[in-house]
Amino acid sequence: MVEKKKISTTETIDSMPGLKMKQLVELGKCIVCRKKLAETSEPQLTFYVLDVQRVLIDPSAMRRRIGEEMMMGSGMLAEVMGANEDLAKVFTTKKVLVHEGCAGNLHHLALIFEE
Ligand SMILES: [Zn+2]
Repeated sequence: MVEKKKISTTETIDSMPGLKMKQLVELGKCIVCRKKLAETSEPQLTFYVLDVQRVLIDPSAMRRRIGEEMMMGSGMLAEVMGANEDLAKVFTTKKVLVHEGCAGNLHHLALIFEE
């Protein structure tokens, strides 16, 4: 489950998890405008760091799972009594930067992996 954190007025910036200079540099350029974090014309104090995974369905594992469900007569039974193997595999993971102001223009997610 994704943790949603709301910044409240009672929370101080000191209590938030942080990023060091090395981590900011490693983020590289915004995947939308291709500018670095501080290169934008208007200063943007907030930005997104996205952990993007490209995932591949394993067709053989998926067929075995469907077979288990058919043999056991229920997806719930297959979940508990079946092999419970991975049905998909993560084959690419990338951490990317998106300026707050650019987030609305992120239309083509596949471009993230074309560098
Ligand atoms: Zn940008």
